[in-house]
Amino acid sequence: MTTPRTPHQTVSDAGQWAARDASVVWHGFTQMAAYVGSSPITVERAEGREVIDVDGRRYFDAISSLWVMTLGHHVPELDAAVIDQLGRVAHTTLLGNGNRVVVEFAEALAAVVPVDDAHVLFASDGAVAVEQAAKIAFQYWMNRGQPGHTQFLALGDAYHGDTVGALSLGDGGFGTELFDPLRFPVIRTPGYASPDWADKAVACVEANAEELAAVIIEPLVQGAAGMLVAEPEDLAKLGAACRHYGVLLICDEVATGFGRTGKLFASEWAGSDFRPDLMCLGKGITGGYLPLSATVVSGEIFAAFEGADLGEKTFYHGHSYGGNALACAVALRHLQLIHQWDVLANVTVVADRLASLLRDHVVGRPEVGAVRQRGLMVGVDLDPPGGATRWGRRVCAEAQKRGVLLRPLGDVVVLMPPLTTTLEEIELVVEVLAASIRVVGEQDQR
Ligand code: PMP
Repeated sequence: MTTPRTPHQTVSDAGQWAARDASVVWHGFTQMAAYVGSSPITVERAEGREVIDVDGRRYFDAISSLWVMTLGHHVPELDAAVIDQLGRVAHTTLLGNGNRVVVEFAEALAAVVPVDDAHVLFASDGAVAVEQAAKIAFQYWMNRGQPGHTQFLALGDAYHGDTVGALSLGDGGFGTELFDPLRFPVIRTPGYASPDWADKAVACVEANAEELAAVIIEPLVQGAAGMLVAEPEDLAKLGAACRHYGVLLICDEVATGFGRTGKLFASEWAGSDFRPDLMCLGKGITGGYLPLSATVVSGEIFAAFEGADLGEKTFYHGHSYGGNALACAVALRHLQLIHQWDVLANVTVVADRLASLLRDHVVGRPEVGAVRQRGLMVGVDLDPPGGATRWGRRVCAEAQKRGVLLRPLGDVVVLMPPLTTTLEEIELVVEVLAASIRVVGEQDQR
């Protein structure tokens, strides 16, 4: 194991930057009154998999900037793709016209997604990719003259984003109960925390096939729920039931897409017969460079929207920056690099090492409940002694002092290291994590 870095102790520019930050910036999912006191870092630049703050301190980005970065920050090849596209055009609207690099990226994407005869509707955020998928699924049945299909089946513990539609499909939590009156009702069966989730979902599909527009799942990993994991056979079972009963299947791969689980898309684990009708992509699609998301639909769905110009079968939906040219240029180069650099092979090797390190240093510790992993997506369930111990927060704060950036989901510490992480770096991450857990555990024994 490598030696963990010495904890950062000096106070200098960081505090001032945090104060300036809090006086004008409203950070998402953040209580701003507690912001400055929680010692946030203010990033100035990055090199590879490390971010560097305004004081020049380096941190290994073990959450890939909230799951978006894949190959690293400031990757010369990706930088060059953006700069090259800047020399042509940064953005033109896709409403009514096309853009060369968007066509090129859509072709490259359509060739690798497990969706039949794929067509791509671009947007900018993962939640909007989900929102679009829900609206497309709903209108698909209308366009086919089968208006009874108005319900969605979504899973317990699901998270699909923060817009009102995506929030409706999600199972709530994260303090969002306040918005419950705005959420549309869905049919919900248990999530991956229940061993029989797939049987329950299949039974529900069978019972409600005539009313369902679609089933939506996060294939293999329910990320925001704390990395709850499913077995590929269970996904296959649900996919087969959707096909059999004629219900659309939406796979939300915003978190799992682009290599995180060791395959390009998590849906691929369920076998070649598993063909989502719609797929939602975001986060890693540009390697973490620029906001881009996509709703990918099958040729059959796309065909249901063909009709007279300005007619009612048109999909009346589109976002100003959807399919941004700079974002598509970097996304195209990113997809090429994943193949050229054989990135998925690295994910497999590093994920195996990560699993064995976690087994040796984290699993079985008295402060730890369960550890769940699929590829380079990991959730470490802490088992605090009870009360408002904020263990998740405190463990991540200790890790930050030791030069590793983590962010908890409640008392689950999430690890989502970049796909290009080296074996040495993964050793550092686990060593820092284990040390941080130990320190917090010891503090609460006193
Ligand atoms: N779907 C899933 C599965 C997600 O994990 C997330 C974000 N964590 C979203 C959708 C929403 O994506 P965004 O934050 O880009 O809107």
